[in-house]
Amino acid sequence: MYEVYGVIGYPVGHSLSPLMHNLAFRELMLKAVYGAFEVKPKDLEVAIKGVKALNIKGLSVTVPHKEEVIKFLDEVEDKALEIGAVNTILNEEGKLKGFNTDWIGFLKALEEEGIEVKNKKVVILGAGGASKAVVYAVKMAQACEIEIFNRTYEKALELAQKFGIKAKPWEDLKEAFGDLIIQTTSVGLNSWESPVEEEVLTRFKVAFDLVYTPLKTKFLSLAEKVGCVAIDGLKMLLYQGVEQLKIWTKKELPLNLINLIKETLYKEVSQR
Ligand code: NAP
Repeated sequence: MYEVYGVIGYPVGHSLSPLMHNLAFRELMLKAVYGAFEVKPKDLEVAIKGVKALNIKGLSVTVPHKEEVIKFLDEVEDKALEIGAVNTILNEEGKLKGFNTDWIGFLKALEEEGIEVKNKKVVILGAGGASKAVVYAVKMAQACEIEIFNRTYEKALELAQKFGIKAKPWEDLKEAFGDLIIQTTSVGLNSWESPVEEEVLTRFKVAFDLVYTPLKTKFLSLAEKVGCVAIDGLKMLLYQGVEQLKIWTKKELPLNLINLIKETLYKEVSQR
């Protein structure tokens, strides 16, 4: 019998997770399939009950369910609780356990580029769901200073208080400076916009954009132009998925498989 996995979100049509996980299951010769389930916010509770009823073995959780889903789970790992978001569910004999792998995916993407966060000043744009995992990650990696800028200042303030970092008004972004600048807003997603001007990027060494459609956003193009190391969001997506597979299969993925998934994801996004 095949095991069933999937992603829940709203919308989910754009998700690259089925491509990534079905490829991995096939290469690992596992009898498992991965689908995409579009779940409206009002149906989240009943969908999670359905996971147990249908014995779905694991789920990825995406926008807008990462925070809300927590209250429907039987157990949530401490790190995900601290972040306040779950992006991975494991069904262990009818018990649903929640995890967060976004923060690990983010750090692995930096690690792959040889970027150190320890003792660096980090500026984060955005205070939405993705930002929380990024803030947690850079705190874990011992950044010496973290500033968060968000269009809605109250949300930046809320995150800053939760994590003990500095909130800054969006208007002050033009004076921002530091070592790493991390773009976690949805600005630039399927559009040619950047939340910051080229001049701001000259004051940073590394620029990371969580957005990966397009792969090279305007933000990253400007960053590259002024000599920053530019990192796209697809690597984070890849590594958060690799961590999900570890949780579901209880196995380390071989490097050649990680490279194959990476190649496949880049090919897919560049063709979109
Ligand atoms: P979210 O919770 O909806 O948050 C959206 C953020 O973008 C908020 O901070 C919002 O500010 C800001 N924003 C939206 N429009 C803006 C504008 N015109 N000007 C300035 N700020 C604006 O979304 P999310 O889950 O954090 O996701 C954000 C992005 O990260 C998405 O593009 C998503 O695809 C990407 N992402 C990538 C990965 C990955 O693995 N690479 C993982 C997660 C998310 P307000 O608070 O003012 O509304």
